Amino acid sequence: MPSPVYFGSARQARLEANESLPAKLDMILDRLHLRDRVKNETVAIKIHTGNNLGYSTVHPVFVRKVVQAVKDGGGKPFVTDISWDVRGAYERGYSTETLGCPVFPTAGPDEKYFYAHPRPFKNIREWKMAGLIQDTTFMINFAHVKGHPSCGFGAAFKNLALGCMIGETRGAMHDAMHFDRYWFAEHCPDAATRQRIAASCPHAAIVEDRDQPGEMHLHFEQCNQCGRCLQVAPPGSLKIDPVNFHSFQEACAISVEQVLSTFAPGKTTHLSLATHMTPVCDCFGFTSMPILPDAGVFGSDDIVAIDRAVLDVTGRMQLIEENLPTSLEVHTRQGHPFRWLHGPYKDPYLVTEYGAQLGLGSCEYELIDVLPVEQIERAPIGYIPAR
Ligand code: SF4
Repeated sequence: MPSPVYFGSARQARLEANESLPAKLDMILDRLHLRDRVKNETVAIKIHTGNNLGYSTVHPVFVRKVVQAVKDGGGKPFVTDISWDVRGAYERGYSTETLGCPVFPTAGPDEKYFYAHPRPFKNIREWKMAGLIQDTTFMINFAHVKGHPSCGFGAAFKNLALGCMIGETRGAMHDAMHFDRYWFAEHCPDAATRQRIAASCPHAAIVEDRDQPGEMHLHFEQCNQCGRCLQVAPPGSLKIDPVNFHSFQEACAISVEQVLSTFAPGKTTHLSLATHMTPVCDCFGFTSMPILPDAGVFGSDDIVAIDRAVLDVTGRMQLIEENLPTSLEVHTRQGHPFRWLHGPYKDPYLVTEYGAQLGLGSCEYELIDVLPVEQIERAPIGYIPAR
């Protein structure tokens, strides 16, 4: 049976507050029956507070709506993110005063409070999950939708997969991309050829390894799989292979499996705000121009379904190519616009497919618009006299 995904469009029929996105978020919280579900629960509201000068993360107006709903329902809310981002969160507008509840680091100020979950995957033996997340009885996963250099896009899965693990595990998840061998030094003993391979990449994505002479190191985040390096590399020396790229998305799905396994059924829900969508993650510490039009706000109890719905809605939108930084190039025009930017092996849908295989949710969903603009009778603007 398809999972319901509630949706509030960024479009309005009339210029009225009750048609705006925060108002539609309230309607979604009603449809999710959030107030009825949180009585006496300790509720973690997991957001990404961004870093440094970022200003495109979920605005405090939205977070405060969720905090208020939890309080209305008799729950005890706190907002949480990794310590690195929480440290300066008040500078970006996230404080007890603005949100109406405390802001805590997920694993303590030094990320020393965690629970280890054994689950072998490539280079990872155990997943060190943030203590506060595991200790809470209810979690609201509130994500900002944007592109991501490792996997194409970040939203509900990404917010939990990285944001609920400590730094050691986050690093290991990125390292999973290096687990399967891609450089075969025995086929390229010539240093000058290795330099030509590095010089062939306009994104500085492949470099000579500083610590191991003769080895090449691929920065998967920067690689868009254009293939220029393969035209220079001797046969058999270099692989630009989906298996490496896909490892990160599979690791994200496994991480979310670990996180969700600590909650009783019905004790998690997911919200995603698809506005000011930038090419890369909010952890970069700045906000660049949006590359897609604002889509709206989404809510569902099914993490697979919500990411799937976000991708389908944003995938129908036109990439705003004039807003792209000049360092990025579009070299494929197939699939989701985030894939155009980050390359065919970073298909943003993959994480949902891995998630569905792990039984975390359904790729089938029903998108329910909580206030379709077509059903609202248009009205004049009214308060601006036209001459
Ligand atoms: S495939 Fe393209 S982006 Fe990736 S390392 Fe090779 S040249 Fe660089």
